[in-house]
Amino acid sequence: MNQNDAAAALSVWVALESPTNHPAGLNGMMDLVQKDVEGLPIAVERIPGRDGLGDMVLLRAGLDNGQPAVAVMSHLDTVHPVGTSAKELPVRIDGDRLYGPGVYDMKGGAWLALQAFKQVAVAGSAKRPMTFLFTPDEEIGSPTSRGMIEELGRNAAAVLVTEPARLGGKIVTARKGVGRFDVRLEGRPAHAGSRHADGRSAIREAAHQILAIEAMTDYGRGITTSVALMGGGTAANVIPQHAWFSVDCRVTTLADGVMMENRILSLNPHDPDVQLRITGGMNRPPYEKSAMVAELFGKAQKVAAGIGLDLQDCPMTGGGSDGNFTAALGVPTLDGLGIDGDGAHTLQEYALISSIAPRQALMKGLLETI
Ligand SMILES: [Zn+2]
Repeated sequence: MNQNDAAAALSVWVALESPTNHPAGLNGMMDLVQKDVEGLPIAVERIPGRDGLGDMVLLRAGLDNGQPAVAVMSHLDTVHPVGTSAKELPVRIDGDRLYGPGVYDMKGGAWLALQAFKQVAVAGSAKRPMTFLFTPDEEIGSPTSRGMIEELGRNAAAVLVTEPARLGGKIVTARKGVGRFDVRLEGRPAHAGSRHADGRSAIREAAHQILAIEAMTDYGRGITTSVALMGGGTAANVIPQHAWFSVDCRVTTLADGVMMENRILSLNPHDPDVQLRITGGMNRPPYEKSAMVAELFGKAQKVAAGIGLDLQDCPMTGGGSDGNFTAALGVPTLDGLGIDGDGAHTLQEYALISSIAPRQALMKGLLETI
């Protein structure tokens, strides 16, 4: 397939909007995957969605020799609400850039990896079984796909994740662990004018807690905390009874994850008359560059050199992915094997069309070598 045809085929995937909370869009994406492999020597399993989320598709191909598989993983959900492509981020080509919701994170990577998977399946050039899992819920922490990801990971010799490439084609061999917490506060309502002293403001208490949590950030140690969603109150003249906020926490080691979980879950109210309810925890363990990951990366560098690419990895990144789950199980995992580009999760998101062919060749080489 030439570059124009590849960009056109990928555009079809990008034009079908599939935010995590829109199962119809996700199921449409899963249909596109199934249609793409029709008639090929690839077994297709469709796993119905649950909890209001989309379906999964699991492909199997390659050599049936009883060896552990090489497992590819891609998520087809995006963070962009339905309607984004009609307004702020239309699917369009500008020079080498293909713009659109989720083109970089990660429909581009999913699409090019599927083309490589098909090539290897058709050529019969795999050394072992191959699996390819498409998931609907990575952007919210993979609540319905984590079990399947871990099951496939446990039975795999290596896991290849098609999250976006970084900084000019670098791949990912380490990611921070991610925690999410939900904090709900309940104080006592009162008229803000006539009964001010009787009130116990849930928002004031939230302000204390937010500053305490943000102060746990320790850049030297790679720990960050941020509160990026909050709410509360009912009217400008009522001391607020309720407030809430959510916490994002990132760590570089398993031990720091346990420590931060304890610190956040055991926060006490500053005002004893306000109740504090904290739920959540670490939902993605850190993905550390173990000796096994380094060895797999060395193999990938050789494959890349064979097709004229100088493959580099980037320092531990802050963003988590499904690679965290499999790496934490001790399965050699490479991530960031997707398309090159920039602007993940923004309205300037684009992929570089010229990166499709080399990244597809790299994926094909990995599927044939591992
Ligand atoms: Zn992603």
